[in-house]
Amino acid sequence: MEKNIKQPFNFHTHTNRCGHAGEYDNEEYVLEARKNGFTSLGFSCHVPRDLIEYQDYKSRMNISEVGDYIVDIRKLKEKYTDIDIKVGFEAEYSKYNSELLCSLKDEVDYLVLGQHEVRNAAIDGSYPLKYADSVCEAMDSGLFDIVVHPDIFLMARNKMSDEEKAIFDKNKTEAIRKICYKSKELNIPLEINIRGFIRDKAYPSSEFFKMCSLIGSPVMFGCDAHSPSDIQRYQSDINNCYEKIGVDNLNFVLNSYDPVNYRKNTNLDKLYSEFRRKAYSIKYYMARDIINSILQGIEEERFVDKVITTLYDREKLLEEEALKEKDKVKRDFDINIANYFTIKRIKTILDGIGATLAEKKRLNKELAEIAVSAKEYGIASREEFADFVCKFVEYKNTKNSYIKASLDNDISALITMYEEAKNSGNGKGESRKLANPLFKSIEDKNDEDVFNGFTNIAIIGLIVSFIIGFGIGIAYMLIHI
Ligand SMILES: [Zn+2]
Ligand SMILES: [Zn+2]
Repeated sequence: MEKNIKQPFNFHTHTNRCGHAGEYDNEEYVLEARKNGFTSLGFSCHVPRDLIEYQDYKSRMNISEVGDYIVDIRKLKEKYTDIDIKVGFEAEYSKYNSELLCSLKDEVDYLVLGQHEVRNAAIDGSYPLKYADSVCEAMDSGLFDIVVHPDIFLMARNKMSDEEKAIFDKNKTEAIRKICYKSKELNIPLEINIRGFIRDKAYPSSEFFKMCSLIGSPVMFGCDAHSPSDIQRYQSDINNCYEKIGVDNLNFVLNSYDPVNYRKNTNLDKLYSEFRRKAYSIKYYMARDIINSILQGIEEERFVDKVITTLYDREKLLEEEALKEKDKVKRDFDINIANYFTIKRIKTILDGIGATLAEKKRLNKELAEIAVSAKEYGIASREEFADFVCKFVEYKNTKNSYIKASLDNDISALITMYEEAKNSGNGKGESRKLANPLFKSIEDKNDEDVFNGFTNIAIIGLIVSFIIGFGIGIAYMLIHI
């Protein structure tokens, strides 16, 4: 086995914005890297959550800090020309954050996949396979340049019963094989994570990297630095870690590795442009979750009215949820001993909670308005109702012109169908057309016109919701008099 492995670069570095790395200045990492002979250093702080979700302030920057993060690193790049400094993000992948990831990717030099969890997946014996599938799907998106700690899923085993552990172990090898083959196929390097090694975690795992060696998947070390001292000890950690893993013939990337150039020799840009065209916004997925969970609680055949009132009642719950989030922040930070950095951070978090609440309420209101329109069209089946509402929400919110165009056709067809069904059902044979056609083909209608159609729907929605709200108000007063 080769001794004294050298890797003069690191593309896995966290900054103080993530809330759990120490409060060091970004420049301190750069100075340490230069002192230790690095030719390049990449910053990969954790991606924030979308604005419509409460920010995970213990692990991530706030979405409002993205601009400052990128500017700060770019300034360091300008200042230090003897080292190549790059800015990126470490991100989890799920369909929910595909639009967010596309927009962040376009702002930075590279993305690394750090799949710490699989969204909505239970931790059980089949977790390795769910994990591997999500990692392979992420690699196929073309979003990611490196997969960091690809074997972190092995940690999940610790929390299981013996019975689950046995199933987990059966699935583990297949999961490892899947990830290694996908990495080889797409030429995406897998990281041997030094932080896991230092902290004696279940990763980096010999079993995992034995498979890499067998299949020939590209690999590299990653510091996962959370302080400048991690950079200082990196080189000796690499050697100790390599010795502990004890795997020969690993297909290390070259020491001149640069994610931007490396990517040019892969198929990733092509995959990414295909993925980008199909990236739905998080609001589509959240709308689906909200509507389905409301529908589950409704027995009645005539469910639409109930959905509408539930959505309006939900607004109060959203406000209560925001208050709980604020209380959590107050519990987590002791303002009496907070320094300037922490006070600034608390303010960012509290402002962020307000912005998220506003966004959640906006989506809720949109859902209610669209549900009112669905009622207007006489949509009778639950599946069709959910489909109509979610597509409509996406149409209103997507920034993706391909999705907008395809939904335009979908929704126009749906509306024509409902209109015809209604007309044939009224017995008079008269065709009842909408006063203002809501959707026309994007080619012969510009966006503004399309949105005028939405304004009409919104107004109808508002009037109906006002009447409903007024009725509920009167009923409330009568009960309490
Ligand atoms: Zn990570
Ligand atoms: Zn990390």
